[in-house]
Amino acid sequence: MPDRRISFRAPPGTRDLLPPESWEWQALSRLAIDSFERAGYAPVETPAFEHTEVFARGVGEGSEVVHKQMYTFSDQGGRSLTLRPEGTAAVMRMVLEHSLQRGPLPLKLCYSSAMFRQERPQKGRYRAFFQVGIEAIGSLEPSIDAEVIELGHRFLLNAETEPRLLLNSIGHPSESCRGGYLDKLRSFLRAHSSDLAEPDRQRAETNPLRSFDSKEPSTIAALEDAPLITSHLCDACRDHFQRVQDLLTDLELDFELEPRLVRGLDFYTRTAFEWVSSNLGSQSALCGGGRYDGLSQALGGPELGGIGFACGVERLLLARTGPSAPSLVGVYIVALSDEARREALMLASSLRSAGVGCDLDHSRRGLKGQMKDAVRSGATWAVILGDEELRERRAGLKNLRTQEQEQVPWHQLEKRLAP
Ligand code: AMP
Repeated sequence: MPDRRISFRAPPGTRDLLPPESWEWQALSRLAIDSFERAGYAPVETPAFEHTEVFARGVGEGSEVVHKQMYTFSDQGGRSLTLRPEGTAAVMRMVLEHSLQRGPLPLKLCYSSAMFRQERPQKGRYRAFFQVGIEAIGSLEPSIDAEVIELGHRFLLNAETEPRLLLNSIGHPSESCRGGYLDKLRSFLRAHSSDLAEPDRQRAETNPLRSFDSKEPSTIAALEDAPLITSHLCDACRDHFQRVQDLLTDLELDFELEPRLVRGLDFYTRTAFEWVSSNLGSQSALCGGGRYDGLSQALGGPELGGIGFACGVERLLLARTGPSAPSLVGVYIVALSDEARREALMLASSLRSAGVGCDLDHSRRGLKGQMKDAVRSGATWAVILGDEELRERRAGLKNLRTQEQEQVPWHQLEKRLAP
């Protein structure tokens, strides 16, 4: 026997999901995947780790995620592998491996997966967390941008997270569009270098667009008069952006134009969006997304436009204001003798077969203890079986919300309790 117990504490920045929070978490993931599937998005799952270069190239060497946050390790074959820090690059790698782009387009895919980033932990920011998201790959039409945004918005509303939608376009990399704009932004940042917070100075050179992501008050102040991308879009990108806005207006979806909202990598193009919630404090981002028309090529694939978003499930849990998810246990069977316990197990089995969520005691508790458990289970009904009920082939049926109780013959129970 080892003489010391291992630490029971999960590693920093990670957390266990326990009831009741884990019920909420499951309900949210289900709600997400269900809403996405109803719009034609098929669920996919990629491995929890990929060859490191999938993320190095697919998220971008210049990004914070690749630079500082990846969990990278070598396997026994000497390959460099990385735990998935985000979903889009992995999904695109999957599309290219299976040549899904040769089939009907757009490909509409969704996922609910664990992500891993070595970030400084704080409330709403973890090193292992979950994202639900969608990717629509293979269409350049503004209508798919509008569909993706509308789906995200409706999901966040249904999840009762009070989302505010921020919208921008970041154009595309050519000189006539974002390329020319970046030259202007770089000059501006150089001229104001001494006003930028120390950590932002380097970034201003390597990834100037990302300066707008800074949380440093001095950088935010220095950027007040910075040139903005929306005044420098080429005609085609401006037209695309206008059409997306018109479609969102048709859909009666409120959005705020936010010209400082950026995705700082070359293969991100045109539409960029984010939902924020004032319920979240400093980590206010609920969900972020954008168009990534250059991603497939960055991974060595063909030209293939795409757009998607990812929502952090832990953030959704923190932002939620609605009532908690209803329990899937609708009925709790209270059994008061050995014989009743045998019957209870059979009754539970037949109720479950009929689709009725059902739980029962396995600890020989008395009536009071079992009734307490029934309430704790979240059930609406308690079915009470004692010797007398068994003899007369009936059961006590108690509504745990109204406290009303009646006697019901066994053969009617299933019909009474069926959903
Ligand atoms: P990103 O992939 O960085 O665009 O993030 C998309 C969404 O994932 C964010 O809006 C957050 O809701 C969530 N998210 C990102 N990083 C974390 C993290 N470290 N912990 C928890 N949620 C996160």
